[in-house]
Amino acid sequence: MSVVTKSFDTIHKFLNSPRLEFGLRILHDPSIVTDIRRLDGRFLKISAWGIFKFLVEALWKYPGMFDYEIDPSLRGMSELTYMILSLEERVKAARKRGVKIVGKWPANPTDPYFVDGVMALDPFLAGYCRLLAEGKPDLVKRGRARLSEEACPAQAAAYSILDEETYPMDFFYPFIGPWCYDSQYCFEALRHKVDGDYGDHPVFNQRDDRLGISREYLRQELLRFLKRLEELTGKKIDPEALRREFILENKLRRVLREIIALPQEEPPPIDSLAMILSVFICSDWLGDPEAALQVLSRIRDAGYERLAKGRRGMLVQKYPVRILITGIAWGDLGLYNMVDELGGVIVGSDCVYNLFHKDIDTDGDPIDILTDRFLATPYTWQVEERSMWTVNTIRSAKRVDGLIFNCNFGCNYQAAEARFVTDIVKRETGIPCLITDADLPKENRGQMRTRLGAFIELLKERQLED
Ligand code: SF4
Repeated sequence: MSVVTKSFDTIHKFLNSPRLEFGLRILHDPSIVTDIRRLDGRFLKISAWGIFKFLVEALWKYPGMFDYEIDPSLRGMSELTYMILSLEERVKAARKRGVKIVGKWPANPTDPYFVDGVMALDPFLAGYCRLLAEGKPDLVKRGRARLSEEACPAQAAAYSILDEETYPMDFFYPFIGPWCYDSQYCFEALRHKVDGDYGDHPVFNQRDDRLGISREYLRQELLRFLKRLEELTGKKIDPEALRREFILENKLRRVLREIIALPQEEPPPIDSLAMILSVFICSDWLGDPEAALQVLSRIRDAGYERLAKGRRGMLVQKYPVRILITGIAWGDLGLYNMVDELGGVIVGSDCVYNLFHKDIDTDGDPIDILTDRFLATPYTWQVEERSMWTVNTIRSAKRVDGLIFNCNFGCNYQAAEARFVTDIVKRETGIPCLITDADLPKENRGQMRTRLGAFIELLKERQLED
């Protein structure tokens, strides 16, 4: 391809992608981007101008993120986009300043990982951020070539970023629950790469632990983890420091619960992508709880303002049907845009809801509190109970018209539970359920459009009958 043809091709792609619209919106009103204080939790500040400049450059540097229709006119959204795309450089900068980076597993509560200035990094979410920035699945393909061709995209991306040392990590201490029994082989393969300890999370008798054996086992594991953190940082972990972290992160959990409730309102003031970027991609606070609290609070407040004015989210159609996702939330963000275009809106993903469905107690021994919290991850409960948790989420929501259970390619756990959970949800609530299979971003969009279109049509017909 000649240089001229290549340039035309680039310009053509730019003019026809949501990138242009995102760029025009922030250029049209640069005041929608505002300062973030205390980024990296070290009394630093990134100015609105710094974020604005970063985003303008990102339109070219990280085109993948702008393949999706992100709504920068929702206050806080541009800053969230900045936090997602800058994660890698912020982690590296923090490490250079001597901050210790400690790896966690997605279902682990973030609190003990951020205590006393340590920075938590979830390689699964960090891998997603990289995939978003690149806009192509090479990271997953390289991970599969070295790990297993049958690894789910999250495992493969997480493996790649650690194996290739894209992100620095001082220590990896994931507590792997029965939620995902595929993580073990990924971590086994990583043992030779990253210094770590792989905390056990008891599988059986969690909910029928009359002798307290599982609980005591996990408590000892947590104590071991905190001791390793002390060795790593050279600082004693004071129970008060843990309590302070609980208080800060409870504020974050509350904001996420408020954001997740917004699409259930009429009209939904935020669209599906705005909701999922906030509650899924930011569910481990993107390396900085302080900054995440400011950004997520802006998104929530902007949602409330729109609601008061009766304004819909950018892609939301009139009178959309409300859909909850369970299983594993789609990693292909284009599907959230697609649901909106087809007349639905996603009102939550109960896989991440595990992390913030309730506050952490702040009274009592912090280790006991954390132990109970680790055991109170509904996705790790046995299938009937886990299904009833989803049923109760639906019953307590303002409105859920349908449920999608998504299975990621390679995820044995979700595939085994999908039929079970959807049958129980149908029996208990009567709402229609759809099981989807997803793998790499942008794959099978045609087939997905047909299936999602038919499902949303069905939900709309039921809506008319009511
Ligand atoms: S999609 Fe399944 S296999 Fe992959 S990380 Fe999640 S639970 Fe584990």
